[in-house]
Amino acid sequence: MIALPAVLVLLLGAALGSFANVLIVRMKEGSRLGGRSRCPWCKKTIPAKHNIPLVSWFVLKARCAMCGKRIHWQYPAVEAAMAVFAVVAFLRHPDDPFTIGFELLASFCLLVITAFDLRWQLVPLEFTVSSAMLVGAVRVFMGEDVVTVILGALTVAFLLGLLVLASRGAWMGEGDPVVGLLMGTALGFPLALAGVVIAFVIGGTVAAALLIQGAVTRKTRVPFAPFLAAGTLVAIWWQEPLLSFLNYAIQ
Ligand SMILES: [Zn+2]
Repeated sequence: MIALPAVLVLLLGAALGSFANVLIVRMKEGSRLGGRSRCPWCKKTIPAKHNIPLVSWFVLKARCAMCGKRIHWQYPAVEAAMAVFAVVAFLRHPDDPFTIGFELLASFCLLVITAFDLRWQLVPLEFTVSSAMLVGAVRVFMGEDVVTVILGALTVAFLLGLLVLASRGAWMGEGDPVVGLLMGTALGFPLALAGVVIAFVIGGTVAAALLIQGAVTRKTRVPFAPFLAAGTLVAIWWQEPLLSFLNYAIQ
């Protein structure tokens, strides 16, 4: 019974991922959102049959059909991730379209920021601030206390800002506290604190693994926004046990 809607949600997620890809590239180029997609190499318009999320990338074997140049990993990765996030949101709340919508919105914003930071070591600031405000507004609309949302945003941004100042930008970049605003509005206080801890656990583990493998040195800048995004999503998915732990710890 749940299989057909789950497949539809998967397709919706892949389509949202496709839109995220357009947004990511055009924000970087500073070009407008309308108009057909073009190959970044040969500049030819991509025909609709070659622009199907995920499917086209596999059918074309990751190459442009016109010029044969490689299609960036960002495209299939973002489409696949958004498809997975959409299915997870649906399976977690099959009867709650508002919560599904909220989780789609939050994961979409976090995914755009993650791909942008991974590809260019940059946080898209305007997009991130707008996302934080929109996500916070949706949470308040859904019945969350406005103080909880604002306190969450300010706490995470302040904590990350302190780390930027203390390390003079060596541990994290100036864009990361801005991503903290989004984490804070998405999670609210005190769940946002759990999100920060999870981000540092995942970030520390990945950084250690990369160091051991020799893929990075201590001087390499590892983008931190992807870990903040991961911490936010994990805290959304595990909010029930995390909140009962936090409430227990605070009392
Ligand atoms: Zn091309």
